[in-house]
Amino acid sequence: GVGLEIRHIHKHYGAFHALKDIHLNVPPGALLTLLGPSGCGKSTLLRIIAGFIGASEGSILLDGVDVAAVPPFQRQTAMVFQNYALFPHMTVAENVMFGLKMRKVPKAQAKQRAMEALEMVKLSHLADRVPAQLSGGQQQRAALARALVTDPKVLLLDEPFGALDKNLREEMQVELRKLQESVGVTTVCVTHDQQEAMVISDYVAVMNHGVLEQFGTPLEIYDTP
Ligand code: ADP
Ligand code: ADP
Repeated sequence: GVGLEIRHIHKHYGAFHALKDIHLNVPPGALLTLLGPSGCGKSTLLRIIAGFIGASEGSILLDGVDVAAVPPFQRQTAMVFQNYALFPHMTVAENVMFGLKMRKVPKAQAKQRAMEALEMVKLSHLADRVPAQLSGGQQQRAALARALVTDPKVLLLDEPFGALDKNLREEMQVELRKLQESVGVTTVCVTHDQQEAMVISDYVAVMNHGVLEQFGTPLEIYDTP
């Protein structure tokens, strides 16, 4: 993993000030959760970290390099969306291989890496199915495999368990945490679920109305009245 520096980020949507001076650092390999109610700016910050949208002010540094200065196809971030965004007409294996194909990885090698990624998320036995033939949790694992197969420096997760029921969500939280630690990828996860933030995070950024209200380990956040 690489260090992530979020430096005095502001975002304006027209006259609306969606992010106000967000500033924090995440050490290599750590998992940061952006926690806060709907509309507080979590997704906006995640998209800025991904380089999908620009900040109005401030910068994002990955391993000391400004993401805004890196061309999109050279960025080493991978995003998992709430709705998984799997290609419905492709098999699970083809979905996972897609990013490698885009990066011109030879097919045999891409296939092998895809199977390794599916192995990591315990989905290799379903490699030839299409997404509609998978459960919600399995689709979530496929989306994770697709993100991890490119060996990203930073993994970005937008409400990754939002569509899952409570039991499965708790199971997936534990799995994600194990996987993230074993791969060692620096991770930013968006959630509005405080319990989830406490379970999976090394660091929690509590946001409200575009402001960073608290930042610390789950214990530090939890101990604060
Ligand atoms: P969250 O992910 O915490 O729900 P968002 O980052 O999606 O919050 O949104 C933060 C605020 O910015 C909300 O008030 C939202 O309506 C507004 N917003 C988000 N995207 C846009 C946009 N493209 N144009 C205008 N306002 C936006
Ligand atoms: P989220 O789950 O991230 O809160 P939203 O439903 O708020 O998603 O936003 C979905 C999309 O609409 C995003 O691309 C966001 O940037 C955009 N959006 C959100 N709020 C606004 C807004 N007030 N005006 C224009 N676009 C918006």
